[in-house]
Amino acid sequence: KPIAIITIGMAGAGKSTFVQRINSYLHSENKPPYVVNLDPAVAHVPFEANIDIRDTVNYQEVMKQYNLGPNGGILTALNLFTTKFDQVLGLIEKRTETVDYVILDTPGQIEIFTWSASGAIITDAIASSLPTVVAYIIDTPRTTAPATFMSNMLYACRVRLRLAILYKTKLPFILVFNKTDVQPHDFALTWMHDFEEFQAALAAHSGTRDAEGEPTYMNSLMNSMSLVLDEFYKHLKAVGVSSTTGQGVKDFFEAVEGCREEYEKEYLPELERAR
Ligand code: GDP
Repeated sequence: KPIAIITIGMAGAGKSTFVQRINSYLHSENKPPYVVNLDPAVAHVPFEANIDIRDTVNYQEVMKQYNLGPNGGILTALNLFTTKFDQVLGLIEKRTETVDYVILDTPGQIEIFTWSASGAIITDAIASSLPTVVAYIIDTPRTTAPATFMSNMLYACRVRLRLAILYKTKLPFILVFNKTDVQPHDFALTWMHDFEEFQAALAAHSGTRDAEGEPTYMNSLMNSMSLVLDEFYKHLKAVGVSSTTGQGVKDFFEAVEGCREEYEKEYLPELERAR
């Protein structure tokens, strides 16, 4: 069975570049993936997607017709497409013998996929029929400040919980620290594995006591968040990648293979219990 990779990330993190990179990597390995483009507003796809939301809905027409702004247009286009997602699943099913990877590219604005019913429905539909992993793309150079790092990790954590809602179990999740050609991700791994190290970095950045000698807001917040984040970190994989140079792409696919096992051992039994 192929494994489905759902790619998400904040705008600008390099999601499009990442999808292009893993796509061309798989082509070069003679394992062309089956690509589903769920971004109605994507400008240019170098490898044609096998299934493209743009073939079904024109989000600019949707904007006009329903008098919506760009984000409303994209969301509505995704909603319309979701009503036909069973057909998409049917097409994917036909390829399960010949394809190793199914890549789903989601809309550039992360909120549209992660906080919409459609995003949840699509995730659920895919994850119920194929081993599935979420690849969360992070802009590494922009996450080196401890407070930014924490807020990015909390956001990723919320996304993970959100995409787990229907079956109350969490999908395998890979944090992809992108742009390692500009900024290596070792600091992030250190902070994830050693909480004290992270707290020290945070303190060096923003102090631990205010002028009255009381713990700063950030310091208190951090202490209460530490358990949440620790739990989050425990259950995910993190890899560093450069989507421009291709560095780390192999590591990414190793993590994906690890996720396949995780899916079979943890997600699938939950899924079967829920049925
Ligand atoms: P998206 O909005 O998440 O789809 O981001 P894009 O793929 O459009 O990338 C945003 C910007 O980051 C572009 O200028 C890319 O060229 C750049 N970018 C993406 N990946 C990398 C990378 O691995 N290294 C570097 N240096 N730049 C990157």
